[in-house]
Amino acid sequence: MAPITNSPTTRSITQTFSHLKCKECGAKYEPIAMHVCELCFGPLEVDYNYEAIASKVSRETIAAGPNSIWRYRHFLPVQTENYIDVGTGMTPLLKANRLARRLGIKNLYIKNDAVNMPTLSFKDRVVSVALSRARELGFSTVACASTGNLANSTAAIAAHAGLDCCVFIPSDLEAGKVLGTVIYAPKVFAVNGNYDQVNRLCSEVANTHGWGFVNINLRPYYSEGSKTLGYEVAEQLGWQLPDHIVAPLASGSLFTKIYKGFQEFIKVGLVEDKPVRFSGAQADGCSPIAVAFREGRDFITPVKPKTIAKSIAIGNPADGVYALDIARKTNGNIDSVSDAEIIEAMKLLAETEGIFTETAGGTTIAVLKKLVEAGKIDPDEVTVVYITGNGLKTQEAIQGYVGEPLQIEPKLDSFERAWERSITLERLEWQEVSV
Ligand SMILES: *Cc1c(COP(=O)(O)O)cnc(C)c1O
Ligand SMILES: [Zn+2]
Repeated sequence: MAPITNSPTTRSITQTFSHLKCKECGAKYEPIAMHVCELCFGPLEVDYNYEAIASKVSRETIAAGPNSIWRYRHFLPVQTENYIDVGTGMTPLLKANRLARRLGIKNLYIKNDAVNMPTLSFKDRVVSVALSRARELGFSTVACASTGNLANSTAAIAAHAGLDCCVFIPSDLEAGKVLGTVIYAPKVFAVNGNYDQVNRLCSEVANTHGWGFVNINLRPYYSEGSKTLGYEVAEQLGWQLPDHIVAPLASGSLFTKIYKGFQEFIKVGLVEDKPVRFSGAQADGCSPIAVAFREGRDFITPVKPKTIAKSIAIGNPADGVYALDIARKTNGNIDSVSDAEIIEAMKLLAETEGIFTETAGGTTIAVLKKLVEAGKIDPDEVTVVYITGNGLKTQEAIQGYVGEPLQIEPKLDSFERAWERSITLERLEWQEVSV
């Protein structure tokens, strides 16, 4: 293998990674833009020198770092200090007492990436890392195949970094997701097909155009960004791991990388080792991983997605088998819920905790509820539920299922009549509940 070269003008961080490694056969590769093992077709992953990391980091150095994912830069696949920091990460970890009480559990926390910067979903984490690495590798055009949020993140962060950007989306996405992409003026291709078809097309484009596709040829770097969802929770819990986490599954990448993040913190001595249960959430209308879990299979049968939870509607999940393995070996679960349950859960989270999440978050809360009701979450477990996207982007999903304002004239008596009416209505609702 040729030695690793760095641009001489950029300051180098003490090297904490030097190669990619096949997850299946262990073959090693230069850390370039590639994602599949040439020997066995397994996925490639960034492999770190943990002794080098342990010698560089402590709780104190991390806490003194930037207020973003880059406080964990020694655990991320960048070789220079020239990373793109748009304030991504360090989102709130909220103690969710009112939601917990409603569900009948005691120690519930919400990791709220509905307010992640700059585009209000967890995808800003993976894209910040992927584009930083893309720039180090010399790409001037970046691209992605997206279910919506990734398009928003890639377009926004590419704009900030001055990179050219091409985005491929299924043509039936929510208006908020489309508008939240085109505003940054990338080239957007709305493909007449579902996400899995978009993804297949993009694999071909990646081969012919030499662009950096964040979730295809840059996928080994991209996916590492999700580890920060593990690191932040550990740090925000006072350098401790939770007992149980619940997260949504699309490709399954996010889920597996939270696990990797916890394991790495244990490995370098930042937190004490302890078992953490991993539970995953899917929508009934696209639940290939949940079905395999239920049926006790260790392979995934692809499906054609049909659900309002479009951001997690991946019918052929690349990391599905790894997610299955983690849920099983940690004594967790993977379950799915209906679109009606997703809408109810979006409303429940908003009404109890003041968080407006998108359909993926509704899916996660609905599965959390289902697991509690089935006795699969102990009421005393410290449980962290990951909310990954913002409700303002999927308004179509709840239109017709939420209340409306009371229309009044700009006069006191008009207000008083409306007020009386609203009190009466509320009383009637209470009576209905109590009979
Ligand atoms: C992409 C996405 C996910 C899941 O991502 P994977 O890593 O592919 O499993 C979850 N929630 C939201 C809102 C997303 O956009
Ligand atoms: Zn291999």
